[in-house]
Amino acid sequence: MNSEKPTFLSGFVAVIGPPNVGKSTFLNRVLDAKVAIVSPKPQTTRNRILGIYHGEGYQIAFLDTPGIHKTRTPLHKSMVASAQEAFHEVDIIIMMIEMTRPDDPDISLILKNFERTRKPSLLLVNKIDKGSKKALLPIIESFSKLKRFDAIIPISALKGDGIGQVMKALRSRLQPGPALFPKDMKTDQSDSFLVSEMIREKIYLHTRQELPYSSAVTVDRIEDKPDKNLIAITARIHVESDSQKGILIGQKGRMIKAVGRSSRRDLERVFGTHVYLDLTIRVEKNWSRDARALRRLGY
Ligand code: GDP
Ligand code: MG
Repeated sequence: MNSEKPTFLSGFVAVIGPPNVGKSTFLNRVLDAKVAIVSPKPQTTRNRILGIYHGEGYQIAFLDTPGIHKTRTPLHKSMVASAQEAFHEVDIIIMMIEMTRPDDPDISLILKNFERTRKPSLLLVNKIDKGSKKALLPIIESFSKLKRFDAIIPISALKGDGIGQVMKALRSRLQPGPALFPKDMKTDQSDSFLVSEMIREKIYLHTRQELPYSSAVTVDRIEDKPDKNLIAITARIHVESDSQKGILIGQKGRMIKAVGRSSRRDLERVFGTHVYLDLTIRVEKNWSRDARALRRLGY
């Protein structure tokens, strides 16, 4: 009949571009969250999910590319690699440049990789708050001459200008497809989840089952410091009693040190960078029976 059930739309989008043009700022703005770091995902080997945007009737998964973390690999090599990876694995490509650096040599390098893909692509000219409209026009003109981009959108990721237009442009280019991720899934959440699971695993390993069922791990902060090649994590272990706390601390703090050390080692392997782990223990009497505590701990 004429029951026109709207089709759900979904897709993967990569954000590529020279370092420092504002890719992370843009993603944080779009996702309305601080996207600190990214969890490793099975469906791709190199690229990682940066964040998931849940729109009305559609869903967009933004992919992180190694090029975004400029300091972790030699710049050009990583950018070329990330561009190539991104082209294979995504449905739409966003290339970002910055208004005040329209002739950055990295741009032509990325464009070269572009030649081989026919995927929909948008060019975002960022940081328009830093220059005049007059300066913007010739930039847009010269890039539209390339006939490479389906749309060129000036934005200010910092101020939020043009973001709505970008989302509209993305939405109109999505293909029908199922929701790729559960509605409540955000990247920072899964990062926290991943981190807390890893720490919990270590508690289990080191205390030999005495504690895991009455302990929980919450992650307060995950902070990516790519300039220092470091991720700083603040996490808390919640236990029910002082005696459990005592077990977890161990003789001269040996137990908690061992838990921290092996957790850190694993986290470093997963994230591929140095990890600073701030781990504290907190006694929350009867947390397993206290509804508010349960909610806060994510159970
Ligand atoms: P990325 O390396 O491409 O991820 O760039 P970042 O998102 O880390 O941004 C690099 C710098 O540019 C940061 O200092 C941002 O605050 C700044 N920045 C990002 N977007 C804008 C913008 O729209 N306007 C201005 N003025 N600065 C911006
Ligand atoms: Mg960045």
